[in-house]
Amino acid sequence: MKIAFIGLGNMGGGMAANLVKAGHEVHAFDLSADALARAKENGCATYGSAQDAVAGADAVVTMLPNGAIVRDVFAQDVIGHAPISALLIDCSTIDVDSARAVAEEAARAGHAMVDAPVSGGIAAANAGTLTFMVGGTDEGFSRAEPILAAMGKAVIHAGASGAGQAAKICNNMILGATMVATCEAFKLAEKLGLDLQTFYDISSKASGQSWSMTSYCPVPGVGPQSPADNSYQGGFASALMLKDLKLAREAAVSVDAQTPMGTLAKTLYEQFADAGSGGLDFSAIIKTL
Ligand code: NAD
Repeated sequence: MKIAFIGLGNMGGGMAANLVKAGHEVHAFDLSADALARAKENGCATYGSAQDAVAGADAVVTMLPNGAIVRDVFAQDVIGHAPISALLIDCSTIDVDSARAVAEEAARAGHAMVDAPVSGGIAAANAGTLTFMVGGTDEGFSRAEPILAAMGKAVIHAGASGAGQAAKICNNMILGATMVATCEAFKLAEKLGLDLQTFYDISSKASGQSWSMTSYCPVPGVGPQSPADNSYQGGFASALMLKDLKLAREAAVSVDAQTPMGTLAKTLYEQFADAGSGGLDFSAIIKTL
């Protein structure tokens, strides 16, 4: 299949390479010359503009920084330039309103489109083990599924257009809040004189267990290997966690939902990023407690 891929950054670079490995002809575009050069090394055909990359494509995949950029790229470079038969798949993490607006515009032009944000970071993008949460029609989902399966370990239909983004931000709101709670509990346990490995052994088998504890423990030397064991380098940057918590907050305001824990987590990550720590893994917030 001829697949145009726009946005070949930390995530998109590895995803496009996995489409090539699956036998697809990938037509790549990014504003960054370095990203394009890496895509070429990985077997993509590279283009000087997004419009050229999408011409003649069977499907278009985008992996871009935010909703404003996604709106612009689809309005200016994709809709009206890709063939009407091309399936449009946006894998970026963006606000639900932008996802629905772009999908509506695509549908008006005659395209099938799905939002398909991912769970899993750069390592999962490179390894082809992402989880995709897909919003769109049954037909859009069934067309997108085999393409996404080449880049991930799970592809789940979340519901109608925008539902993928809704699932993503709700999931990451849990993640942000449970990480802060897990960090607090370890610090309190320490001050109460508990050995932290012993606390982990207990809580990881008790009702305080969470992914933040057992897959991503914020305490160095405790639990599985995690960014805490690497001075909080790599992993999922606090700035990206803040981005997702802001999207969750905006979504909550838009539907009048009460999210006090998610809102507090957003405030704490905002303070952490403002203090210059946005590049550290999000478990590094333990250092502020
Ligand atoms: P990134 O900044 O590394 O990559 C984005 C790429 O888009 C860059 O290469 C940039 O040059 C390109 N770009 C920007 N505007 C463009 C335009 N108009 N036309 C063409 N290319 C353009 O970001 P990333 O870490 O790859 O994240 C991409 C998306 O994935 C974001 O929405 C992010 O929230 C989401 N995400 C990231 C992670 C992660 O761990 N990095 C995990 C899950 C989801």
